[in-house]
Amino acid sequence: MAQQMGNQPLIVLSEDSQRTSGKDAQSMNITAGTAVAESVRTTLGPKGMDKMLVDSTGNVVVTNDGVTILEEMDIEHPAANMIVEVAETQEDEVGDGTTTAVIIAGELLSKAEDLLEQDIHATILAQGYRQAAEQAKEILEENAIEVTPEDDEILEQIAATAMTGKGAESSKETLAELVVRAVQSVANGDDIDTDNVKVETVVGGATDDSELVEGVIIDKERVHDNMPYAVEDANVALLDTAIEVQETEIDAEVNVTDPDQLQEFLDQEEAQLQEMVDQLAEVGADAVFCQKGIDDMAQHYLAQEGILAVRRAKKSDVKALSRATGARVVSNIDDITEDDLGFAGSVAQRDVAGDQRIFVEDVEDAKAVTLILRGGTEHVVDEVERAIEDSLGVVRVTLEDGKVLPGGGAPEAELALGLRDHADSVGGREQLAVEAFADAIDVVPRTLAENAGHDPIDSLVDLRSQHDAGDIGVGLDAYSGDIVDMTEEGVYEPLRVKTQAVESATEAAVMILRIDDVIAAGDLKGGGTDDGDDGGPPAGGPGGMGGGMGGMGGMGGMGGAM
Ligand code: ADP
Ligand code: MG
Repeated sequence: MAQQMGNQPLIVLSEDSQRTSGKDAQSMNITAGTAVAESVRTTLGPKGMDKMLVDSTGNVVVTNDGVTILEEMDIEHPAANMIVEVAETQEDEVGDGTTTAVIIAGELLSKAEDLLEQDIHATILAQGYRQAAEQAKEILEENAIEVTPEDDEILEQIAATAMTGKGAESSKETLAELVVRAVQSVANGDDIDTDNVKVETVVGGATDDSELVEGVIIDKERVHDNMPYAVEDANVALLDTAIEVQETEIDAEVNVTDPDQLQEFLDQEEAQLQEMVDQLAEVGADAVFCQKGIDDMAQHYLAQEGILAVRRAKKSDVKALSRATGARVVSNIDDITEDDLGFAGSVAQRDVAGDQRIFVEDVEDAKAVTLILRGGTEHVVDEVERAIEDSLGVVRVTLEDGKVLPGGGAPEAELALGLRDHADSVGGREQLAVEAFADAIDVVPRTLAENAGHDPIDSLVDLRSQHDAGDIGVGLDAYSGDIVDMTEEGVYEPLRVKTQAVESATEAAVMILRIDDVIAAGDLKGGGTDDGDDGGPPAGGPGGMGGGMGGMGGMGGMGGAM
């Protein structure tokens, strides 16, 4: 950045910094943003493809989940990262719809590029897009269908829709039912925390063998063979302290001069351990979950008392147990009282696919449940788990909002139609932006059709004409390619998936469009090493950048170009 001051140029930026301004900056950012969207496009919908991602250490993830793909890709370009954030916001707010949000953002950028070329100013575009997004949310609200928390059928259909096209698909009925039951169990009126649904993955068995346990499962075994395998009507004690003799604080040296003295010393230790166990037995504990260690001798005494004990339980598990059984976590065994104990109808060690686990069930306040997900291989269960997380998210959001929309591109078709109508009332140059927004939304049904191997133009024309005729619920049946009523097919999504997708996609697109100056201090991380780019404008249009993962190699180059 140099300005003339007399004859002497005034240098404001350091020599290493690189600057791209005006149209170059805009087109560079748009290219980066659309490249990210392009990279997840083929995964959208029930017939979307999966991606295999291999990280630098050779770990392999096979997934169809938008946000997972983008996070694993390790994207460097700052504008591209804004699009990744769209997926992350969507994931946090709703848990599903990440691919949708990202491809809408990409399409908003790409439509904007056409208008920028026609010399429509970015500020006008931004205003038009914002206005369109507001209108879009209204249209979506108008089309929403009310759902009550008791409507299990529709809830299960929502849960199933979120799993469609993911690894979980073949067992989606079973899983959808489990997901709905799980969310309903942890729901406390409107207050639903799906973190209280613990998902335990087990490799071995079929996905259909997955089950829901109303309670908590701990991936541990009882510490001593003589302890019972199961206790009924168990009083549960939770400890975050060890059942061991405390090491002396000061480094005391015990001088043992004859064998009797040693014996006395050991006896004393044993007596202390016995006392701790007695204390637990006296208050009536039947099962003890200890976050720290349990001394061998104490294990033996506990077994003698018929207490089932677990050591080194995870802190998060102890917390879940506390919530489920009502037990208080105790730090000093001497102080434990009956009031600190919780209750579970059954605490039992069971075999799950060759692995021993402790099941704590029949808890009074089943506000903590565990979903045991099974699958043939690690990759399968991992992908099923991601689908389940999406599914838990949509059921939670539906219970919170009580509003859903038909899927399969129906709401997008309705949006495009409504926005084109609305554009006429806007007038001026913003009208063009609202129209561009409407066109951009069409990317969803178009991509659903493309990914399912149908002709996107035919499908869009069909879809549009039926929506024009007033069938607001029709969408694309990805399997047959027909335009059918999605409510009859049971394909539903929460309203919030769509409103959030529109909102974050618009925010990101507007933010990127409004940038007309990129000033980078030195080389951007990871860039600059791959080519001898001298900081000029990036070479090539979207064509060079697109093409999914292959295109991502180019992203580092983009960083270098800044
Ligand atoms: P996202 O990450 O956006 O959730 P998905 O790959 O899960 O992406 O695809 C979601 C899209 O697939 C939504 O538009 C949804 O309506 C559509 N969809 C899901 N199930 C079906 C189905 N059975 N028929 C048609 N479309 C479906
Ligand atoms: Mg989805």
